[in-house]
Amino acid sequence: MSILADSLRRDIAVGGPITVARFIAEALGHRAHGYYAGGGRDPLGVAGDFITAPEISQMFGELIGLWFVDTWQAMGAPEPFRLVELGPGRGTLMVDALRAAAKVPEFGGAATLHLIERSGALRERQWQTLSCQAPHWHNDFSEVPEGPAIVIANEFFDALPVHQFAATPCGWRERLVGLAEDSEGFALRLAPGPTPALALLLALEADETGVAEVCPAGLTLAGEIATRVAVEGGAALVIDYGRNGASGDSLQAVRGHCRHDPLSDPGEVDLTALVDFAALTRSAAEAGAAVHGPVPQGAFLRALGIEMRAAALSRVADESQIVDITSALSRLTSPEGMGELFQVLAIADPLLPVPAGLAA
Ligand code: SAH
Repeated sequence: MSILADSLRRDIAVGGPITVARFIAEALGHRAHGYYAGGGRDPLGVAGDFITAPEISQMFGELIGLWFVDTWQAMGAPEPFRLVELGPGRGTLMVDALRAAAKVPEFGGAATLHLIERSGALRERQWQTLSCQAPHWHNDFSEVPEGPAIVIANEFFDALPVHQFAATPCGWRERLVGLAEDSEGFALRLAPGPTPALALLLALEADETGVAEVCPAGLTLAGEIATRVAVEGGAALVIDYGRNGASGDSLQAVRGHCRHDPLSDPGEVDLTALVDFAALTRSAAEAGAAVHGPVPQGAFLRALGIEMRAAALSRVADESQIVDITSALSRLTSPEGMGELFQVLAIADPLLPVPAGLAA
């Protein structure tokens, strides 16, 4: 049993079952033994646990870079402005984006780079990739100094803790993580009465499984981003695998590119939940921002010109590289790949025109 599992078991034995959100927060973020904090681990890539769009192809980050420049120009090319990435992983998206954006040198000159990252190992990776842009690191978005901002979050919101609720004859009850019967592992149970998180929920929707998920950390963050861009100018792109409304229990664990039991091995496996774009939209709109989308990732990338970019790269590629480019294009845009499951949402200053790629 992992050190973190052992410590959670002891906490639960003394204090009783904990919320699913607390379990996820500890499993991912525990300062010494959490998945993103502990062990100097790099979870990304073929040798890691999962692979993300910027790690599949440089085309992804490059097109986001063009989106940044287009948005910055629509903002009136402010200087300086904050270029913010939430959860930059290895820094691959940002390095590809900045290379593509270098076609407009004033953009890079005006940007101060702010990276929201809690993992020491990944901060180290990001330093290796992005030191030339002199990044500033923060633990939370709220620490980014004031000023107009362009924000990107790819596969970040799915790592924020969700609470889960089940419909019962007595109304909604929160799902909690307790000790399994054999007291070796963990098991879900229902809270006997209303729990504090229930009060956070305005409208709970369950699907046919009778389970609902809510991500207060995601809603708060969407609200913070919205306030920032509405008050100071700018826009944010949220890209993630998601849903629009009810999904049931979407908590999943991945290790070595395979599904894993979410309650086993906390701290050793990646935990994610589908992002509820309808809920993020409500939260951002209430905070005064304009919200565009969500649109499917495939449609967004095609609107930004991914097919032309793939063709241009293929013209100077050898045969095996052409195979790679074609397969990356399909993986990023096709319905069988990431093209429809992944969605793109923009949270923007209402004074800006509809951001590139997000027109209905
Ligand atoms: N955006 C990158 C990496 C996605 S993995 C890519 O597309 O490749 C999720 C990233 O978010 C990692 O960098 C992880 O360390 C970071 N992260 C997860 N939860 C976080 C939190 N609560 N605060 C700050 N960073 C977090």
